[in-house]
Amino acid sequence: MIVRFLQILVAFVVVRILWGLVRSLFGKPASPPRAAPTGATEQRGEVVRCEGCDLHIPKERAVVRDGRTFCSDACAVSDAEA
Ligand SMILES: [Zn+2]
Repeated sequence: MIVRFLQILVAFVVVRILWGLVRSLFGKPASPPRAAPTGATEQRGEVVRCEGCDLHIPKERAVVRDGRTFCSDACAVSDAEA
């Protein structure tokens, strides 16, 4: 357990040192990696459109049936019956 923790600690320190070297090489000040886009607070993850009701939902919550994307099982079923 302690050995594992030390390994992670050493890896973290090494990464920090390398990162500092890279930064000094390029001579750029610290800046956020990406400019924060405006809009919803739920920024991470892809958003997909339901083919049944045109609702936009996070991809991880989407229901995929026969290669088509839906917001819920109910939408997938009702679309299949239509
Ligand atoms: Zn839907």
